[in-house]
Order: sequence, then C-alpha cells, then structure tokens
Amino acid sequence: MNRLSPITSKEEIFPQYRDTSVGLLLEYHNLSREYETYTQAQLLVGMCMDNRKHLHIPDNFAYIIRAGGANLRYSEFKVSYAIAVGGVKSIALIGHNNCGMVNLVARKEIFINGLAENAGWEKEKAEQHFNQFAPMFEIENEIDFILSETQRLRSRYPKIQVAPLLYLVEDNLLYQIKED
Ligand SMILES: [Zn+2]
Repeated sequence: MNRLSPITSKEEIFPQYRDTSVGLLLEYHNLSREYETYTQAQLLVGMCMDNRKHLHIPDNFAYIIRAGGANLRYSEFKVSYAIAVGGVKSIALIGHNNCGMVNLVARKEIFINGLAENAGWEKEKAEQHFNQFAPMFEIENEIDFILSETQRLRSRYPKIQVAPLLYLVEDNLLYQIKED
C-alpha cells in the first residue's frame, strides 16, 4: 500500500495529472470540486464491476467501462470507440482493493455451486465455464495488474494519457499509484 499516493488537496495531485481530465476526476471524487456542465465526455474510466464502488462525477463527464478487475483486454473495441469517436484523450484505470478477481481459483467451488443453484446450470458445464474463463480474468494482485494494464494501454494507444489509480473500499477514495 506504500505504492499509493493520497489526494487530500489539489497540490497532492501528480503534476502530470494536474489540469488534465484525470486531475478533474480526482478533484471531483476526492475533493468535492463543484460540478461543471459537460456536453461531451472528457475521459474514459475503466473500473471493476464491483458493487462497492461509485464515482462522484458530473453527468456526461466520462465514458465508463466496467469489467472484472478493471481489465480492459476484452473491451478493446469500446476503448477504441471512446477515443476515436468520443474524442477522449485520457484513460483513468481504476483498480480497487479486495477485488474478487484476485485469487479466483480459491472461489472455484463457490462459483460452480452458485451457477448450478442460482442459474440452473449442470455442475459439469459450470466447471468447464470456470476453467475456460478464470485464467483470462485472474489478476493475482490489484496494483500490479493495474500497472501492467496501464503499460499495455499506453503501448496500444501511444497518444493517450493513461493514469493508474486505486479505489479503497474502506474510505471510497481514489489514490494515485506510484510508477517508479
Ligand atoms: Zn473488483
């Protein structure tokens, strides 16, 4: 957690984010900046599907893609769309602690039984489903994953700013992830 840098004042926003749409996101969410009116998206947010997270941002401010672990590898066309058609120049990639995509293997039995009981799947099919997809969504460690996904997105979209952030579910605040 010492790789996280908090934002309790505008001065604590990293210089590379200040006066960008990422800085605005951090000000809106962490510092209760007064909402401005937007007619066009200013950035793309990639974040986990987890139900414990909610961003405090103005209407129309951001495209948001939610996927397990903030993993955008399987949402590439949507990312491209937000950039190409939506005109966004920045991506805020927001992981969070206690993410269910970490150590998925430990929840294999729960997953299989849950799909059988809650959705009416045969257990054998549920197990195949888990075995097929769990390796694609397993992320091992939230911060490491966000940093590697940040690098991947930067090389894929070289003119786009990508900011690795973490949301702590305990205080519902955003933290900057240090990259050095
Ligand atoms: Zn998650």
